[in-house]
Amino acid sequence: MNGVFLDKDVMFDKFHEECAVVGIQNHPEAANMVYLGLYALQHRGQESSGIVSSDAGALISHRQMGLVADIFKEDIIKNLRGASAIGHNRYSTSGQTDIKNAQPFVVEYANGPIAVSHNGNLINANQLRQDLEAAGSIFQSTSDTEVIIHLIATSKETTLTARVIDALRQVKGSYSLVFLTADTMIAARDPVGFRPLILGRFPRADESDSHVVASETCVLDLIEAEYVREVEPGEVLVFGPGGMESIKPFPAAPPARCIFESIYFSRPDSNVFGHNVYQYRKELGRQLARESHVDADLVTPVPDSGVPAAIGYAEQSGIPLDLALIRNHYVGRTFIEPRQNIRNFGVKIKLNAMRDVLQGKRVVVVDDSIVRGTTSQKIIRMLREAGATEVHVRISSPPTISPCYYGIDTPTHKELIASVHSVDGIRDFIGADSLAYLSREGLYTFFKGDDTGYCDACFTANYPVLADDNGKTPQLHLFEAVSRR
Ligand code: AMP
Repeated sequence: MNGVFLDKDVMFDKFHEECAVVGIQNHPEAANMVYLGLYALQHRGQESSGIVSSDAGALISHRQMGLVADIFKEDIIKNLRGASAIGHNRYSTSGQTDIKNAQPFVVEYANGPIAVSHNGNLINANQLRQDLEAAGSIFQSTSDTEVIIHLIATSKETTLTARVIDALRQVKGSYSLVFLTADTMIAARDPVGFRPLILGRFPRADESDSHVVASETCVLDLIEAEYVREVEPGEVLVFGPGGMESIKPFPAAPPARCIFESIYFSRPDSNVFGHNVYQYRKELGRQLARESHVDADLVTPVPDSGVPAAIGYAEQSGIPLDLALIRNHYVGRTFIEPRQNIRNFGVKIKLNAMRDVLQGKRVVVVDDSIVRGTTSQKIIRMLREAGATEVHVRISSPPTISPCYYGIDTPTHKELIASVHSVDGIRDFIGADSLAYLSREGLYTFFKGDDTGYCDACFTANYPVLADDNGKTPQLHLFEAVSRR
């Protein structure tokens, strides 16, 4: 076997990959537009960022650790010449943080250079990598995305599109992808459409439209492009010299769009999966108030993610909304902790509780989710220390009981507090006077009760795509392998 990874359990350092992808084709300022798109999608990944442009038959690449605004200075953007470009923001929480894993990846294969940006997670990547290494492929990163590149490079097909489709037929899991070669951009979304991917365009007078693909519609608002539609689950869109071609190469499958994108991950000003995220979150708050009303003096959000649901909760319950927690928006990934012990330092550096608002008040605090429970615990202590007499926690999603294998960063079962504790146990752990979660049905009132077409495995453990057909979820193997390290 080739390569340095002898133990298959340590081939990939992680299995979740929350990310942003952007692609712009046929535009005089392609790299600049991608840069702005990545800027709008910074919330989807803060570890590294990269842009690859296509100019005169070659690909030009710049990838770096850090935030979009810090990486892309004017001279770097100027150097990314050409009428097409793709970009990527990467978010990594566990495991190695390494420039080698920063995307877009660029490689040379038989037909020339190719670059790829990937949002998602391949659940059969370990097996595919083993097979590829056994056949001679040498991997340069620990990212599952590199598997796709090797599958394209080793495909027996001749055309680029056929090679991409051949590669995608072999991978399982979640992917929203953008590829770039010297003359073609390709966008692809997995057959169930876990992660979002939208199509936009800049209409041009000469009718040779310029196209945009991006993770979220907030990109289009910033660069003033028109929304066309979602890239459909299972669709491969080829933007070549002859225009745009849509191909549906996979057998039809029931869609399983990630409901957590709408609950937490996407920007509220985006339309994701065809609906507005802000309106969806407000409805979650209203429904939460219908399901678990409590007498209180004020409703307050955990900013920023709890804000729309708190507005909905206050509207439905008639309890006034007030801001009791103020967030510092400039907290980076690192700060120097003082040696002196400061109570709740980790959360206080991000959030501060306001005594003037809280003194003597019974408070309903609204957040979108509880993962480990440590944030809620610290927030509640802070609210009480600032004078709240009662703290009632309301969560605008059901208990998170199961890890995500399709690209959202959730920890292992034993770290997920709702996986190992009852709601009463969680209430006691976080120190709330009461705690209520939204029901699963409550997630779908916005869709008039229609719960088809979504993946809510984090709340139900009902996983729509398995790594093989023998039923016993092989993702668990992957997951346990990773967490054992
Ligand atoms: P915890 O202390 O682990 O319970 O963190 C809960 C907080 O994390 C909530 O305020 C959520 O908004 C936020 N959150 C939920 N899911 C994620 C995620 N995948 N990545 C980052 N933050 C998250």
